[in-house]
Amino acid sequence: MAADFPPFGWRVILTSVEPGRLFSDPTAAPNPLHPAARYLGRPNPVEALARLRAGNARFTARAAHLGDTFNGGVDAQPFAVVVGCIDARVAVETVLGQGIGAICVARSAGHVLDRAVLGSVEFAVTELQVPLVVVLGHDDCRAVAAAYEAVRTGRRPAGGRQFLIDQITPAIPAARPVDYNLDKATRSHIHRTVAALKQAAHLKEALMTRRIDIVGAIYRLENGRIEML
Ligand SMILES: [Zn+2]
Repeated sequence: MAADFPPFGWRVILTSVEPGRLFSDPTAAPNPLHPAARYLGRPNPVEALARLRAGNARFTARAAHLGDTFNGGVDAQPFAVVVGCIDARVAVETVLGQGIGAICVARSAGHVLDRAVLGSVEFAVTELQVPLVVVLGHDDCRAVAAAYEAVRTGRRPAGGRQFLIDQITPAIPAARPVDYNLDKATRSHIHRTVAALKQAAHLKEALMTRRIDIVGAIYRLENGRIEML
């Protein structure tokens, strides 16, 4: 049953990387200057995949025990679409107390909008008749912090991260008041994301006719509470 895992591609990756350099190795002395040092103590891809497969086995066993259905029924209709951050500490369905089939979730680092995320929201609103769009930010957001740092130092990261940072930095004024902080930047970024969604051409009619609403909220890591903005 497990013969097809890991798939062929994984094996190629695994055999091409020197063990102990990149992967966890408790006997290796971490060299903080080596770029691979940050990976020490982290699970390797095989261990990570095994964790996920074991988790799914627990999930299906528990659901079967409770008699749950997995597809939520053919008539199940999600009632909200949430645009959230990829942060692992903000498991969207869990923190909102929703089960399978209840909400749609689109996530990107710092809940940055791109065409795919915007298209997903439009899909939920038009095809699935979802009445509510929620932009769910959170405190201690590392993506917002990275943008904050980029503004402070004037250094932008390369690659795809640059796109992310560039979408967040308008929420951070170059000349910041002395009391400006990460929390204010995060709130500002959530407000800007809500405003951008409200301006989206293909959401406007639903918004104008009050078929949908678009709201912003912030999740507090320390107590799990969500505050509407
Ligand atoms: Zn975040």
